[in-house]
Amino acid sequence: MSKRNEVILAVGAHQDDIDFIASGSIAKWIGEGAVVYYLLCTNGNKGSDDPKMTSAKLAKIRRKEQEDAAKVLGVKKVYFLNHHDTELEPTLELKKEIVKVIRKIRPALVVTLDPTARYSIDLGYINHPDHIAAAEATLSAVFPLARDRLTFPDLAKKGFAPHKVKEILLTAFEKPNFIVDITDTLDLKIKALKEHKSQIKDPSQMEKMIKLWARRSGRKIKAKYAEGFKRIVLR
Ligand SMILES: [Zn+2]
Repeated sequence: MSKRNEVILAVGAHQDDIDFIASGSIAKWIGEGAVVYYLLCTNGNKGSDDPKMTSAKLAKIRRKEQEDAAKVLGVKKVYFLNHHDTELEPTLELKKEIVKVIRKIRPALVVTLDPTARYSIDLGYINHPDHIAAAEATLSAVFPLARDRLTFPDLAKKGFAPHKVKEILLTAFEKPNFIVDITDTLDLKIKALKEHKSQIKDPSQMEKMIKLWARRSGRKIKAKYAEGFKRIVLR
């Protein structure tokens, strides 16, 4: 695999999504010269059981935590779309907001969640609807919306010219077809995740879980730690 010294956009729904699924790979690619941007669709303003916490306060905390995590990894900039947590829908409005960022930074690679991952019987979970909405909107933004000249001509007029993304990596907890060795950057991944203090109540438990997942993915390529994805190369 050649070095990824290219522009990369990682899109998630919540603060911490990208750090959980791909930050080991992202830290590795930044080390190889990649310029990485994050785009988060919601402001993460709902997930708290503290009776004194307000949505406004929580959104502010989550934003700062994500910016601190991005700094650990060397991410160039984090874009926030600030939709309400748990209410995200793959609307044309959301797709247009993502297209605007794609046309602005012009990534070769887009990393996001898997919109087909509705639930897993084996792993015993239902995927968060915000994850599905963010991923669905991102795929539509990549193809065909960001690419076509006649789509969103108002954006083109403002200087956001059409752009063709070359490659997509989707989260793959099961059945990846693309595995990245993150043995050298696992520590950075854990350090970045620890910045999400309001979401991670037990950091040592999180560390154990991340190592377990990374070890499982690593087995397939005989690496100590890895992250797995579903890769689509756009022709
Ligand atoms: Zn999430």
